[in-house]
Amino acid sequence: MDATDVLVIGCGVSGLSTGILLQRQGWRVTLWAKNVPPNTTSNVSAAVWFPYRAFPIERVLAWGAAAYTTFRELLDTPASGVILANVLDLHPEPQRQDPWWASSVDGFRHARADELPAGYGDGFVFDAPVIDTSIYMAYLRAQFEAAGGVVVENRTVNDLSEAFAVCNVVINCTGLGARELVHDASLRPSRGQVVRVRHNGFRRVLLDDDGPNSLAYIVPRINDIILGGTAIDDEESTTIDNDETPAIVRRCAGLAPKFAAITAADILEVKVGLRPVRPEVRLEVEQVAPGRWLASNYGHGGAGVTLSWGCAAEIVERLSAQ
Ligand SMILES: Cc1cc2nc3c(=O)[nH]c(=O)nc-3n(C[C@H](O)[C@H](O)[C@H](O)COP(=O)(O)OP(=O)(O)OC[C@H]3O[C@@H](n4cnc5c(N)ncnc54)[C@H](O)[C@@H]3O)c2cc1C
Repeated sequence: MDATDVLVIGCGVSGLSTGILLQRQGWRVTLWAKNVPPNTTSNVSAAVWFPYRAFPIERVLAWGAAAYTTFRELLDTPASGVILANVLDLHPEPQRQDPWWASSVDGFRHARADELPAGYGDGFVFDAPVIDTSIYMAYLRAQFEAAGGVVVENRTVNDLSEAFAVCNVVINCTGLGARELVHDASLRPSRGQVVRVRHNGFRRVLLDDDGPNSLAYIVPRINDIILGGTAIDDEESTTIDNDETPAIVRRCAGLAPKFAAITAADILEVKVGLRPVRPEVRLEVEQVAPGRWLASNYGHGGAGVTLSWGCAAEIVERLSAQ
């Protein structure tokens, strides 16, 4: 570990984004992880930029806006797997207020009546990046390694002392794994199941979090479409629920009738992941001993991709200030 200034634990979107931004400031970074892409929660995420189930709102707003800007810049790099989509976030009743994140996105407006499916009284329309994690996670890892980063796979850390034994600056990006690693009882899983289907030409992202088909979302990606979903709190099982799969497709057909034609032959894969939900994202840097620093960047709920670059930038800023 002679050539390492920082040890990052975790190879999801948080660990890789943080590692890459540290490298850009000249830090030499090694990353240890139990699992690497494609076997991370980050890979289960579709992912659309949307600040879902992450807190507190004021900090999430700043992180999300920063990441939105970076993802828009990545649109110029097709190999990243980031594309721009038009999103329609549906609501059953007319919304008197704009959402708290409206200033972070481009093209925000309320939906026209002719855009609303049956059962909806309003919708927020905006442009947002879709980060196709089937491409993006491998792209991030490749960027990290191309800049000299080392990824050590199958490296489970049972106690932070293992990390501090080899490096004085450690960054905990273990997502839900932080529950065990640092005994964080405030972290809770929220189980999500998604159905990956053949692309049928549909291009708009549709979301329903509080309406008649909730929870339902359609996220067209580059080569396929993700249909979701579920958010079951404190459910730990990652076994596929076979009854849920047709129910997800049915709910998505309630958002866009074209999806009523989906058959078993169109289903490419069903995936389950556990969102790392916390009352607040844990993002901080502490001095744990003379000359030793621990940074925490975990607990991003349903928005870890959405916030990734913003959270990573704050970690780098705080570490640089030490
Ligand atoms: C169904 C579903 C849909 C989602 N949709 C979206 C979306 O559209 N947009 C969005 O922004 N977000 C979405 N999310 C949320 C997003 O996936 C998470 O917030 C994000 O992946 C968290 O990233 P992370 O890097 O912190 O954690 P993870 O991706 O879980 O990575 C954690 C890393 O730490 C490693 N690790 C854990 N414990 C240890 C240990 N003790 N020792 C060593 N390594 C360890 C793991 O192996 C892994 O490498 C969704 C999530 C789900 C489940």
